Amino acid sequence: EKGRHGRPEWLKAKVPDGPGYREIKQTMRGLKLHTVCEEARCPNIGECWNNRTATFMILGNVCTRSCGFCAVLTGKPQGLDLGEPARVADAVKKMGLRHAVITSVNRDELPDGGASVFAATIRAIREEVPGCAVEVLTPDFKGDREAIRTVMEARPDTFNHNIETVPRLYGAVRPQAKYGRSLEVLRYAKELNPAGLTKSGFMVGLGEVEEEIHQTLRDLREHEVDIVTVGQYLRPTENHLPMSRYYTPKEFAEIKKYALSLGFRHVESGPLVRSSYHAHEQTEDARRA
Ligand code: SF4
Ligand code: SF4
Repeated sequence: EKGRHGRPEWLKAKVPDGPGYREIKQTMRGLKLHTVCEEARCPNIGECWNNRTATFMILGNVCTRSCGFCAVLTGKPQGLDLGEPARVADAVKKMGLRHAVITSVNRDELPDGGASVFAATIRAIREEVPGCAVEVLTPDFKGDREAIRTVMEARPDTFNHNIETVPRLYGAVRPQAKYGRSLEVLRYAKELNPAGLTKSGFMVGLGEVEEEIHQTLRDLREHEVDIVTVGQYLRPTENHLPMSRYYTPKEFAEIKKYALSLGFRHVESGPLVRSSYHAHEQTEDARRA
């Protein structure tokens, strides 16, 4: 078995602890909210929560899709929790967050894919905590332009949609998604709010080669994406896609250099990078760029 202890040194994150971390954990349980930080077993949880950044997962914790890399449960989601936007805003306030990331499972069974709940959550946070930056990390809404408009009309500071991997690997990694469709989602979000930031990200270690990484970065830039994140794929369980290899910190630095040369406003590339890692700094940096 290749567990935590078989990992290279640069992947060993600290065991989560600290007052910020414990306080947020209690708040989440009290308000019956889900975070990706916990559900996706994110290695940065201690650092992020202590830095007052967290990623909420709205619309439940059961997903209609079954991506090969993802630890979220696949199944038939139940109903809609209409009190959720207000509870998320309440949590953001109680936790004193300065950057809230809102994401969701895919709810392909809903007519708008959950877009109106994203919009309601953005508005609830704006009202409750005016100083907090709001970033949404959305599904592709099957490319439905009306759904994307619904989200963008609520004016998120950052619109993020992850491309996740290079096009050749979509069949195994994102079987229910389409590479070109995800690129169009990003371009349309930018068109709707040119002053806002758009963002995307992908994992390495799924079997892609360098030229494919470069092509994906070029595609994202051609669709006017401002911020890009690149991180190491870590297999959540034996039932998930195998990892092809570990990239070294030096390789991540090279990817970053290449991405910056294409004109991204901010690039986060490293072994432990997840799309919301250093989210606050990413936004600040991209705004200055
Ligand atoms: Fe949560 Fe994102 Fe930080 Fe991971 S990187 S702990 S998912 S905010
Ligand atoms: Fe996981 Fe998102 Fe894929 Fe659902 S759509 S399986 S939550 S990555």
